[in-house]
Amino acid sequence: MTTENISVPEELLSALRRHKRVLIAAHARPDPDAMGSSLAMAWALRSTGLDALVFNEDGLPPFLHFLTLPGPVLTSLDSLPCDPDLVVCLDCGDRARLGETIQPLLDRVPSVNIDHHLDNPLFGTEANWVEPGMAATGELVAYIAKALRAPLHGALAEALYVAISADTGNFSYGNTTPGALRLVAEMVEEGLDLPRLREAMENNWTEARLRLWGRIMQKVRILEDGKLAAALITLEDMKSCNASREDSEGIVEQLRRLSGVRVALMLREEEKDGKIQVKASLRSSGRDNVQKVAAQFGGGGHRNAAGATIALDAEKALAVMQPYIRFVWNRLQ
Ligand code: 5GP
Ligand code: MN
Repeated sequence: MTTENISVPEELLSALRRHKRVLIAAHARPDPDAMGSSLAMAWALRSTGLDALVFNEDGLPPFLHFLTLPGPVLTSLDSLPCDPDLVVCLDCGDRARLGETIQPLLDRVPSVNIDHHLDNPLFGTEANWVEPGMAATGELVAYIAKALRAPLHGALAEALYVAISADTGNFSYGNTTPGALRLVAEMVEEGLDLPRLREAMENNWTEARLRLWGRIMQKVRILEDGKLAAALITLEDMKSCNASREDSEGIVEQLRRLSGVRVALMLREEEKDGKIQVKASLRSSGRDNVQKVAAQFGGGGHRNAAGATIALDAEKALAVMQPYIRFVWNRLQ
């Protein structure tokens, strides 16, 4: 797919131009693509004279505090003086991923759905632009910004870069499109300061993160004749390292680096409403499809990066997932 033949659907642009009170929302527990594309969308709309608000159920993650914001990232809808007239949903493979807070609003307000996940059910009521071939939702937002004649520089470009570089594993995964690389080249030509951004993105570890990684790496399980590497993170691991959810981000990518591993799995326990559940993150390479495994447990994602939340503790979740994971390589033989 080249930049030249990408055209933003007309009904999407028309919805963005027609509505005046726009709320931008991405999936809860935002990763850099969810938050970067939200901020970039707000900057792009601002350049057309429209002050859009950004909402995220879990707010701006600490590791993105270096970004310049177009306004506060709302974590509650209570302070809105009235309903928005359009909700722009970004990077959500399904509507539930936006979190619980915003669901009643989505029942009564029109929405557009802009995403790059497989099996997105096209839940937008005004327009849907879903391109699983795109590296990041940030890439889609870049084309929307261009269509709105917003220059790809300054804070808008920084938010886009964060989104695209994170979802492509810093331009190394199979989803790294020529279009994504061209966008970055264009932004660098416009003055994007790559070394400064990389410094802000990479050299920001907390001590808790370092301790958690050390502890978890020690007990990683190598299973299925070396084809599966699994990191189980218990509530106790999190507590004893004083670690937050963000501190575990990135561990699963390290497991994928082990020679011979086809599927990397991280299972992180968390408590919700007094009950234990586990956040599963799966990674693979090439044709090995972990999205199908995540989908078995009500989750989803991409062929090589997928996730789900399962109402079990980490040990039990591993036991129920393992047969489905085996299917990843057995299917190909
Ligand atoms: P991660 O493992 O980093 O949380 O997510 C990897 C990919 O899977 C991301 O594209 C993310 O959007 C998707 N994903 C993670 N958890 C879920 C989930 O519970 N449901 C769906 N549909 N997708 C998920
Ligand atoms: Mn994404």
